[in-house]
Amino acid sequence: MAMPRTLHLLLLLVAMALVVSCSPMPTSVLATKRRQAMDEAAAARIHALRPLRGSGRELASRGGVACDSWALGVEAHNVRDWKTVPASCEGYVGHYMLGSHYRRDSQVVVDEAVAYAETLKLAGNGKEVWVFDIDETTLSNLPYYANHGFGTKPFNATSFNAYVLEGSAPALPETRRLYSKLVSIGVKPVFLTGRTEDQRAVTVANLRRQGFSGWMNLLLKQPGFKGSAVAYKSGERQKLQDAGYAIVGNIGDQWSDILGAPEGARTFKLPDPMYYIG
Ligand SMILES: [Mg+2]
Repeated sequence: MAMPRTLHLLLLLVAMALVVSCSPMPTSVLATKRRQAMDEAAAARIHALRPLRGSGRELASRGGVACDSWALGVEAHNVRDWKTVPASCEGYVGHYMLGSHYRRDSQVVVDEAVAYAETLKLAGNGKEVWVFDIDETTLSNLPYYANHGFGTKPFNATSFNAYVLEGSAPALPETRRLYSKLVSIGVKPVFLTGRTEDQRAVTVANLRRQGFSGWMNLLLKQPGFKGSAVAYKSGERQKLQDAGYAIVGNIGDQWSDILGAPEGARTFKLPDPMYYIG
């Protein structure tokens, strides 16, 4: 008689745990291996239980989206112009953002950025700059979004701006690592943000409180600007270039941070499955 799948998995898990526990290894290594074995067994069960569904905006709008596929589509810029995270993906996005996955994905991005920065041959004229976006790139608004459905609810400018004015947003630790590296080698940071000019003082205070200093410029959106995010940000980068600066790098959480000439010699996209800015 065929063994029930759950029993089979349970026996496999016990056997793996026994193999690990009988090995003459240090306690920390044992604990890590035991955890890996349990994760693998759990992953196999979860994968088997997961419904086989496609992804995309149509499915997302009907609530039948596979959230990991949807998020990948967002990061690859295949899924565009979305207004809210699919309601059925609140749990997925919440776990992603609050667990270790978001941090690990950010580490990969910044590891690449730091490795690239180490290859730069600076001219010695102080003209090399690196453009940083602020929200979900330098400062994290996760405390706000965790209380507002992780992007499943329509954006509320009133409550979000009230949060910004608290000036309490924590730094993204990986981006702070990149920032410090760039300052140490002589590349000047430039903040380029969709935050508005009237938010300058609180933004400066928040950045300083989170350990950022020594930036060359903080560029905020001026009153009356009506264009798209791409038009705004590429226009500001063009002004930097026209003033003789070389944009050696550019990092943001939105595709609109890194699209539109001049993009910068290298661009880096941080993950953000919570909102889309076109
Ligand atoms: Mg941003």
